[in-house]
Amino acid sequence: MAGVHEGPEYGIGDFVLLHELSLDAFMKNLKHRFEKGRIYTYIGEVVVSVNPYREVDIYNSSYVQQYKDREIYERPPHIFALADNAHKTMKRQARDTCIVISGESGSGKTEASKIIMRYIAAVTNVSGQKEVERVKDVLIKSNNILEAFGNAKTNRNDNSSRFGKYMDINFDFKGDPVGGHISNYLLEKSRVVYQQNGERNFHSFYQLLSGAQDSMLNDLKLTRDVKKYNFVNQGGDAKVASINDKQDFRAVMDAMKATGFSPEETATTWKIVASVLHLGNIEFVGEDQAEISNQHETSTIASLLGVTMENVEKALCSRVIAAGGNVVDKHLNVGEAHYARKAFAKAMYDRLFTWIVGRINDAIDPRHGGRVGKNTVIGVLDIYGFEIFDNNSFEQFCINYCNEKLQQLFIELVLKQEQEEYMREGIQWQHVDYFNNKIICDLVEFPHKGMFAILDEACLNVGKVTDEIFLDALAQKLGKHDRFTCRKLDPADKTLEHHRDFRIKHYAGDVTYSIVGFIDKNRDTLFMDIKRLLYNSSNSVIKSMWPEGAQSVTETTKRPITAGTSFKNSMIALVENLASKIPFYVRCVKPNEMKSPVLFDDTRTRHQVAYLGLLENVRVRRAGFAFRMAYDRFLQRYKMICPKTWPNYRGQVTEGVKLIINSQGFADDVMFGKSKIFIRSPQTLFALEQARDAKI
Ligand code: ADP
Ligand code: MG
Repeated sequence: MAGVHEGPEYGIGDFVLLHELSLDAFMKNLKHRFEKGRIYTYIGEVVVSVNPYREVDIYNSSYVQQYKDREIYERPPHIFALADNAHKTMKRQARDTCIVISGESGSGKTEASKIIMRYIAAVTNVSGQKEVERVKDVLIKSNNILEAFGNAKTNRNDNSSRFGKYMDINFDFKGDPVGGHISNYLLEKSRVVYQQNGERNFHSFYQLLSGAQDSMLNDLKLTRDVKKYNFVNQGGDAKVASINDKQDFRAVMDAMKATGFSPEETATTWKIVASVLHLGNIEFVGEDQAEISNQHETSTIASLLGVTMENVEKALCSRVIAAGGNVVDKHLNVGEAHYARKAFAKAMYDRLFTWIVGRINDAIDPRHGGRVGKNTVIGVLDIYGFEIFDNNSFEQFCINYCNEKLQQLFIELVLKQEQEEYMREGIQWQHVDYFNNKIICDLVEFPHKGMFAILDEACLNVGKVTDEIFLDALAQKLGKHDRFTCRKLDPADKTLEHHRDFRIKHYAGDVTYSIVGFIDKNRDTLFMDIKRLLYNSSNSVIKSMWPEGAQSVTETTKRPITAGTSFKNSMIALVENLASKIPFYVRCVKPNEMKSPVLFDDTRTRHQVAYLGLLENVRVRRAGFAFRMAYDRFLQRYKMICPKTWPNYRGQVTEGVKLIINSQGFADDVMFGKSKIFIRSPQTLFALEQARDAKI
């Protein structure tokens, strides 16, 4: 039976065991394993995963059986081993665990999270309880719904998650899943109204147009022709070879049913999607006083949303403002009306998505069925990876900040975990130097002085507020920070899309952000008129999505929290939550930009390995002890290589381990902890493994 060593033809299964530690040696092993179809490699307990870009037949039930209830080193590296470890650790220690999956877009995070969920579903509920089966079914099927509404084809990934997801799975004392909870973060709602060349809007739109029955499309006043709809046709060809929208639509309908969406709720969901399509086709005429020229669209939208046509028109073409106690109607000009229309579509879709997540959460609420007993959770985090585009904006700023936070957590936990383990076991620890990215996290999030705070301050200014004013404030307050620079570009240069930008030296590389839209996206203004319009819908599902529409015009509202601050707060809470759990890490690497199963792009992968800090990870692991194992396991595994412990040994476990070590002459290379043996150099472990192989 092959353990972590599968034989030299597959390279080395744990980077900690590399003979020589250098980036070159690391890359050579990673590439070699990728070419041999070995997509998983360990760094101790961390799994490094390289996207194979093809079906690899390593997830079937025979594989599940091979990894179930085994220790991580007993079998070749696999993500199943990590899932099993997270589950087992949770059960053994009765503590929450979490699995943090990171890597850039298209590196395989979402696939990894699904594989983990399927593994957990496969190894639990051996007694076949009905409620547990239902929960498992919803947990797995809900992915179809989330992906339909939250994923899109991008130039990097045909099925790119455009939101962050953290999911808790609750387990009872037997280790069976009894519920869960999903938190969603920052959906990329700008996609609802705009797509770059080669990209699509969220899958749901295309699924509806190609998958719905004729009668349903008729009711929604839609045709199958994607090209007709402005909000979904901007990226070009809507057909994606790897996607079957029609089939996916059926899967989503099925999943909604299994999840417990009522027929009204499902119908309303698609009505909202259809309304967005119709909103995209609204046209305005008039200059200073916008008017809708295609009234049939207004009437369709009104009937789909359960509101009056006049109110739709008002919400799009005017704004109610309270001025000195009086309520006045201000007519919008065409530019403002276009803005209102887009804001309307984005907000409606964004709210729909959050509502869908809420409905899934209702269905898997662990308090269901009167389960109030103590339960523990495994959290699975699948969140956007670091992004560097040609044009980076507020969204990338948030996403990259999120990655800084996660990297910071990785640094703290990987170090902390090691330190704690050595302390617990009574063993001395040697420090390894790291690049600590805390300085970048502070730059962005520090109260009063950080970038989010400066942005909020700019947004709160009365009078004229522009992106430029924000940039000036950044320049003034952060100009001296050595991770931050800002520039004024030649305004006459017509080849540039924008003429002011700033740059952050992220841990993963330098990113230049255009300031265009920062103020607007941070304020996230949605006119009260639109909230009120939807709150007054005769459709109770829609009404329930917009509770704040109940406020009257004159009610002075507290300034709503900005998008940036809200994101920052949710990231801080997320990191705190993760830090309270025992962490397991999956570090995903994307082998190339072509989605090719055979290409290993040296430069691109090397860069990822560097910024993920994988080499430092190996160093930390090696600086202390490359390998550790509980005494009883060790004895079990190596007893055959020492005549004093084989074939019969009845003495104390620790004594037996010492006998084995002494018989091989390794006493200088190991330390004996309280419950585990620590082996310093990988060579020793090799030698032990070889001696064992020779005997079996
Ligand atoms: P991410 O979530 O990191 O952006 P995904 O998980 O969506 O990336 O992966 C992108 C694509 O890569 C998937 O749609 C799939 O085609 C392929 N892929 C990723 N992981 C695997 C895997 N383990 N086996 C087969 N294909 C994979
Ligand atoms: Mg994803």
